[in-house]
Amino acid sequence: MSLDLVVIGAGMAGMVTAVRAAGRGLKVAVLEKGEAERYPCNTRLSGGIIHIAFVDPKRKAADILAAIGRVDSGGAEPELASALAESVSPAIDFLRSEGARFLRAGGQEYQNWMLAPPRRLVAGMDWEGRGPDVLLRGLAQRLAALGGTLHRGTRAIALTMRDGTCVGVETENGDFPARAVLIADGGFQANTAMLAEHITATPPALKQRGAATGMGDGLAMARAAGAATTDLRRFYGHLLCRDAMHNDKVWPYPELDGIAVSGMLVGGNGRRLVDEGLGGVNMANALACSPDPLGGVIVFDAAIWDGPGRSARIPANPALENAGGTILRADSLEDLARQAGLPGDGLAASVAAHNEAISAGSLSALSPPRSTERFKPWPIATAPFMAIPCCAGITYTMGGIRIDRDARVLNDAGAPIRGLYAAGSCTGGLEGGHNATYLGGLAKAAAFGLRAADHISETNETVLLKQETST
Ligand SMILES: Cc1cc2nc3c(=O)[nH]c(=O)nc-3n(C[C@H](O)[C@H](O)[C@H](O)COP(=O)(O)OP(=O)(O)OC[C@H]3O[C@@H](n4cnc5c(N)ncnc54)[C@H](O)[C@@H]3O)c2cc1C
Repeated sequence: MSLDLVVIGAGMAGMVTAVRAAGRGLKVAVLEKGEAERYPCNTRLSGGIIHIAFVDPKRKAADILAAIGRVDSGGAEPELASALAESVSPAIDFLRSEGARFLRAGGQEYQNWMLAPPRRLVAGMDWEGRGPDVLLRGLAQRLAALGGTLHRGTRAIALTMRDGTCVGVETENGDFPARAVLIADGGFQANTAMLAEHITATPPALKQRGAATGMGDGLAMARAAGAATTDLRRFYGHLLCRDAMHNDKVWPYPELDGIAVSGMLVGGNGRRLVDEGLGGVNMANALACSPDPLGGVIVFDAAIWDGPGRSARIPANPALENAGGTILRADSLEDLARQAGLPGDGLAASVAAHNEAISAGSLSALSPPRSTERFKPWPIATAPFMAIPCCAGITYTMGGIRIDRDARVLNDAGAPIRGLYAAGSCTGGLEGGHNATYLGGLAKAAAFGLRAADHISETNETVLLKQETST
């Protein structure tokens, strides 16, 4: 067995693990199914902002843990939350030591650490030459310089198990025996059968709001090796203009969450679908598992369009209209309902109830109730009345392989499976919860990639032997 570590997937989680482990003297190979030099993955397409629960990841671990506690809705296991809070700052230091550059992306705290150069503030795709693309190319060069190998066009298909221990990976191009294996394949968002089993009755009605490279291979391999999984029902994503199903200029940005949390999200009957106050990720999840995921309509007015509609980093007003997205306008709710294909009575009743509850301070009595702690609802009263037919965009799945604080994969009895690790969006136990809490995908991937590499190198016999002989 000549390899110390084989990594499945060359996104943030896989490449951080690989470069850190190679830097500590391990012989590492990374398997990446993408063939192109700039193979697609969510990391490369991402906005590149590293935050946790929308606070600065360089804050003290106790502050970060408190921030996680404020937003968590039952998805975050305490052991993993504290490991994340402890390791995100070292992960940023590690990335910088490997050549990553960061800048402050805006005035809000969560924007303090954005990979440079920044994404332009435009609708649609814009990843080439941007921070995450530059980072991945830099990490690939560092890996090669440290003696590691990146095998593009190599899809892992099974783990090699011997007496309950993981001893390598089988691929379509041959076997890679190794002392340890890390799964970092990015989730199961692009696997139709797994989506149908866990998330929605109609997977084609979800818009893939990312690279769509996460096919759940890692989850399937880990399960076959006896791994436990967490709740698999939630995903990170956003509300998108429904035109995203056929117009590539309106995704992954602008997302429409800021408008929907201020106004209303209704289904095909004109009735509200969900508590908008819980945020856009939760709304995307609710729409995805509703009977008609392509029937959602965001209803708002001119005041919301000119206020919250302009507030996102890449604001829907005016980016959506400029990109050709459908925005309906009418002087009356009846006309708006007609244009949107909604029953006029249903929509008028929903808007009236929303407006009256705001005036009376009785939003919690609405059905479904409307919370106000995170987002303030605005009345829908200023013509033109407006609507955007929407869909649920899925970026990555938030449930997955169960791991411990060192990223070791756990079996159903809660014990680590020897030789097997996982990190990034294929793992669960931090995000999700009943309100689909999102903590930050890049932070999770980098922090647990680092922890995995450190644990693997600290328990690697060759490294230990070298350390012994040098002391
Ligand atoms: C548009 C967009 C914006 C985002 N913005 C942000 C942001 O600003 N901040 C933030 O924190 N998060 C953001 N995210 C989320 C973030 O990108 C992800 O959470 C993170 O990159 C996940 O990293 P990963 O390494 O787990 O997975 P990925 O980056 O998806 O990498 C997984 C890799 O595994 C490979 N793979 C899959 N199956 C196999 C197989 N069987 N064999 C070999 N290789 C395989 C894939 O091809 C892929 O290259 C964004 C995502 C998108 C799409």
